Amino acid sequence: MSGPGPASDEPAAAVIVAAGSGLRLGAGLPKALVPLHGRPLLSWALQAFATHPDIGTVVVVAPAAELATVRACVDGRAQVVAGGSTRQASVDAGLAALPPDVGLVLVHDAARPLVHPSVISAVVGALRGGDQAVIPVLPVADTIKRVDGTGQVVATVDRGELRAVQTPQGFLRSVLVAAHRAAENRALTDVTDDAGLAEALGVPVRTVAGSELCFKVTTPYDLRLAHAMATEFDALTRAGGSTSAGDPT
Ligand code: C5P
Repeated sequence: MSGPGPASDEPAAAVIVAAGSGLRLGAGLPKALVPLHGRPLLSWALQAFATHPDIGTVVVVAPAAELATVRACVDGRAQVVAGGSTRQASVDAGLAALPPDVGLVLVHDAARPLVHPSVISAVVGALRGGDQAVIPVLPVADTIKRVDGTGQVVATVDRGELRAVQTPQGFLRSVLVAAHRAAENRALTDVTDDAGLAEALGVPVRTVAGSELCFKVTTPYDLRLAHAMATEFDALTRAGGSTSAGDPT
């Protein structure tokens, strides 16, 4: 985890995890393959990373039973490897496939198809600037309450201190590998993101501005929302990954 920091132009690798079943979407096929404007959901995030000038390598982690279909969709723009039964195992599989010279890694959920290029730039920029772990976040708009098992309100949480966390999450490769190894050794299974594993190791995690476009498609309603936003987004990422055009939030 020590040694000289990354160069100011060091490219990052992207690991796009797409091996989930997407049961909550109820589409009858893995979420990564559900069509969004005629293209599989996965291809949207893939396009954002594959066209971004800060990204050198892309690895897609696919359901083991869908490797051939996902390879056809990826069409040579990324290496495709089989995932595991948990998200953590799928990230491990992606990490294991990275070329040895990769020092910076972004982990992204394929379930977030509309990745604003400025968020990728901000995450990579923070890593190049010396941060070890970086997450895109949004302020929380709703009032949040803590409730007990019966649904009774226990407390109102100060939302000024809260942030909703997105992907891509960026790491020094050495940090992410160490965090995953430590989680395995301690049988940590209830951590819902990679930054949580880094936090458990005591690694400081930097936040950068996320994007409302980068919401996670979980339910059929989310998919309708993604359809509504996709055309505008497609034009943006086709224009080139480094553009700052468009409102990042
Ligand atoms: O289901 P969840 O919201 O945690 O999934 C987040 C991301 O992790 C999705 O892109 C999904 O495809 C991926 N995932 C995976 N392997 C699993 C479970 C989830 O790659 N076993």
